Amino acid sequence: MNETLKPCPFCGGNAMFLTITNKSSQSSVGVMFKIKCMKCRIEFPKSYECEMYMDQDGGIRTGKDERTKAITDWNRRANDETD
Ligand SMILES: [Zn+2]
Repeated sequence: MNETLKPCPFCGGNAMFLTITNKSSQSSVGVMFKIKCMKCRIEFPKSYECEMYMDQDGGIRTGKDERTKAITDWNRRANDETD
């Protein structure tokens, strides 16, 4: 993950990943998450998914991973608000 979350477009507070649901199954562990401002508690109105599993060699692999998409969406909104 190269990108980081920009400050909240409304109050300038720090944004964070907020886990909302556990999506684990027998073969994988995953979470649904949102991006939320820690200060004014604004949430981006979309939820995203991140999933990990162990492969046959014992390595940890990432399955569905929407972390970058979530960051991009949040940062785009932050940019829009400042224009
Ligand atoms: Zn805020």
